[in-house]
Amino acid sequence: MTYRIRTVCLFLCGLTSDLAAQTPPPSVTTSFGVDTTISEVRDIVRLTRAYLAQPDVSARSRGLWSKSPVDARYGDLAMEAYTGFPATIIGVTGAAPGDSVFAVKIIYGPADSSGTTLRPITLQRLYAVRAPGSPYGWQFSSPLPRLTRPWAHRDFGRITYWYAPGITQSSTKGLRASRFVDSVAKLFSVKPPSHLDAYLTATMDEGLRLIGLDFSLENSGPGSGFGGRGGGAGDYLILSDPRVGEAYLHELVHSVLGPTLQSRNSLFNEGVASWLGGSGNLSPRELYTGLEAYQRSHTNISMLDVLQGGGGEDHDAVVALYGTRALIADSIYRSSGIPGLKRFAQVTGRPADLIVALPGYIAGMGTDPNLWWRSETAAAVKRTAPAGN
Ligand SMILES: [Zn+2]
Repeated sequence: MTYRIRTVCLFLCGLTSDLAAQTPPPSVTTSFGVDTTISEVRDIVRLTRAYLAQPDVSARSRGLWSKSPVDARYGDLAMEAYTGFPATIIGVTGAAPGDSVFAVKIIYGPADSSGTTLRPITLQRLYAVRAPGSPYGWQFSSPLPRLTRPWAHRDFGRITYWYAPGITQSSTKGLRASRFVDSVAKLFSVKPPSHLDAYLTATMDEGLRLIGLDFSLENSGPGSGFGGRGGGAGDYLILSDPRVGEAYLHELVHSVLGPTLQSRNSLFNEGVASWLGGSGNLSPRELYTGLEAYQRSHTNISMLDVLQGGGGEDHDAVVALYGTRALIADSIYRSSGIPGLKRFAQVTGRPADLIVALPGYIAGMGTDPNLWWRSETAAAVKRTAPAGN
């Protein structure tokens, strides 16, 4: 089985539902350290087996997940753990004083039948809480609200920011983010989210731990380890880049437009988020200048190659990808306005199909998309140059 390494870099983003559909593990074994003669461990292992056979939202109606208000809101935030690899339960350990909360630690990846030789792809942590009267006497509970309850938090308009210990708070960035959310909703004439919770962490690892992912295979290199992501019904964000802090505009665009427009067109979704909000710590202008530099050093690469991820996953190639998406959103807006962008949001297809459709939204694009792509990038760099240059 092949496994595509998740791009965890400053550009990681997207709602959980955008990630690959979950595939339950074909088998669930217990490692030698898990003693099922202990009644709590035995019952929690049974609960875990039942859940992993079908890890989806039906777990609530089947009595496997807690229905407390916070759990009902969040549920399982780590659906990306379920990629079809065998699961091995490596620990059922106390997670709070007393005997009512346990952490279930699970490794996904190829394993031998004894569960002693593991090749970990993902290490997940689920929380089981005592729930008398439920099918197994225990239910799972969402990690994020449990882990962040003691954090400092602060409201800016519709957004509540939660700060991991040691994270610097910025009123300037919080206010900017709050105003930005309202301005994006106004631009697209959609209802802004009634409330957003945004969790600020120092690194992506720290952010992923909040949803119960302690380890997963990642890309290495400059730019990795930082990023933002949204999830749930678009009502929570994990923002893990201290350079960006509260003003993680790209993810905020997703939070406003994701739930309201429900577009499945990633070129629209990522394009508009990057056009209005940049990406990671890069402004839209920095994306365009990065794209222009990339085009200069890659004279033969096509727009389709870049949109298909054919440029690779190093930092420069990812900048070129997001810069291209931003450029397309910007061009559709200048040619067809918000109505044009909203029509484009409803188009679906592979990148090649979307490129073919673009002349319907971008006047004067001509017959050669690559020629347009290069000349339009140069024009965008000029257009966004700071005044006086
Ligand atoms: Zn995005």
